[in-house]
Amino acid sequence: MDRKSYFKFIAFNMCIFLIAFLLAFYLTPSVYHRTTLQSIKDLDDTFLKNTLNAVDRDRLRNFLRSYASKPHMAGTQKDKVNAEKLYKFWKELGYEAKIIPYRVLLSFPSGNREETNLVRFKKRNNSWWTSRALEKQLDGISNQSDHIVRPFNAFSGSGNVTGTLVYVNYGREMDFLYLRNKFKVDFRGKIAVAKYGKIFRGDKAKTAERWNASGLILFTAPKDYAPKFAGKVYPDGILMPSDGVQRGSLKLEGDLLTPGWSATDESFNYRLNIDEAQLVKIPVLPISYGDAEILLQGFEKEAVQKYNLTSDWEHGLEFENIDASAYYRYEKSNDYTKQVTLIVNVTKEIRTTYNVHAILEGSIETDRYVIVGNHRDAWIYGAIDPSSGTAALLEISAILAKAKKDGWSPKRTIIFCSWAAEEQGLIGSTEWVEQFSNIISARAVAYLNTDIAVLGTSTLRGGTSSGLISNVLLEAAKRVENPNKTAIGYGLKTVYDSWKKYMPDRDNAKRPYISPLGSGSDYQPFINYLGITSVDIFYMYDPVRSIFLIFIYPTF
Ligand SMILES: [Zn+2]
Repeated sequence: MDRKSYFKFIAFNMCIFLIAFLLAFYLTPSVYHRTTLQSIKDLDDTFLKNTLNAVDRDRLRNFLRSYASKPHMAGTQKDKVNAEKLYKFWKELGYEAKIIPYRVLLSFPSGNREETNLVRFKKRNNSWWTSRALEKQLDGISNQSDHIVRPFNAFSGSGNVTGTLVYVNYGREMDFLYLRNKFKVDFRGKIAVAKYGKIFRGDKAKTAERWNASGLILFTAPKDYAPKFAGKVYPDGILMPSDGVQRGSLKLEGDLLTPGWSATDESFNYRLNIDEAQLVKIPVLPISYGDAEILLQGFEKEAVQKYNLTSDWEHGLEFENIDASAYYRYEKSNDYTKQVTLIVNVTKEIRTTYNVHAILEGSIETDRYVIVGNHRDAWIYGAIDPSSGTAALLEISAILAKAKKDGWSPKRTIIFCSWAAEEQGLIGSTEWVEQFSNIISARAVAYLNTDIAVLGTSTLRGGTSSGLISNVLLEAAKRVENPNKTAIGYGLKTVYDSWKKYMPDRDNAKRPYISPLGSGSDYQPFINYLGITSVDIFYMYDPVRSIFLIFIYPTF
């Protein structure tokens, strides 16, 4: 996507979001019937039009640059700098703004880059092969490798283990069971190698530990993250390059030492011991598919006979034409002796991280809240995840601050939220929900999440926790002109038209598909702890290409 169209689409995503939340003002929640346009009939069309016209692409561009130009992982100095910058921005717009610090358990890789957080084995010529410490620098600009966190899984165990490898597909319970039942694989003392995907990475780690594997290596399989039919890898295309590594946390439940209460000094000031936090003990490390290819190919190349594993087990590595099950046959023959060493060194330490909030008071139902949020931390630069969403959040807040100065005010109170430490486990949003659970559960109308605003330029994708708000989303999409001029030429006049074409509802092709929300971003505590109706939307590329992955390439 060229830069010009990127900002065009980020602007249009923001429009949709804006309409959705304007409509949400008039939503009357009911457990008995779905919302209809009748309940939003007093929407002020002139205000809506003026608001959409006020979207400023240059300002959006500057917001994005400002938050994505340097690595800004939670708990680092840059995290604090960004929180203070945002606080100042909201204060200057005239908002009642607040920074809330939380002291929470965070996780970082440690130790010498040459000696830890790697996989290695001795080659036939007695020299060592070692996995890459960092991705190649591809753009020639971002020379900040000291601040780029090396690949790791937050809250992994630390350790130095040596053993033979066992490929466990997606690392699900069913995959381990299958290997045990079909090939009599004994996982004790072995290092499991699993593809990312299908289930949460933390559950893969728990499952590998329960089956007594001594360690787990995760990789982004080309089959799922860079299939040949889908185009080229970055920088020639949008797909994951062979040395890209997905960082990620093994936990998704807020601060691990204050479960159920907030990690503030003012609240119930008690923390669990770290050994009460139920962390996995085995070392877990993510690697690139370029490295996975070298690790796994040793035995597969020598295999001759195929078993009938389902295509589910394919990985798309260069030797795909050899069935992965051949490995288990080979391993059983006792000829296989390739010993691999996995060394992981990951700290768990209490550090301070920061939510930032801005409040726009409502004029009629002041004590009813529409909450709009996005996290601010990124594993590295985070231009797409989360800063495209942050740029949209800031643009909305700037436009509404101006409207407020011109005499407008919302009927209900809007709370803008910039969450801390989402990548480490939805920490800022969870702590806030825990801190203010009584107030939020009594007063919140809806939570609108904009983690990623723009992932591609083909269609909107929307998810919600409740059918109550589906019609609001659909009606909002009908009111925004399609940002893609070529699509308009094909008769897809609105965002709704493209959405319906690219993502039709499977049960009713006459309307777009709205996915149910599960977990994976800051709506989780709102839905799962308090049952607050939540929405998450973003613009994405053509789902027919079925790829859902560009944002995980961390230096984007
Ligand atoms: Zn995110």
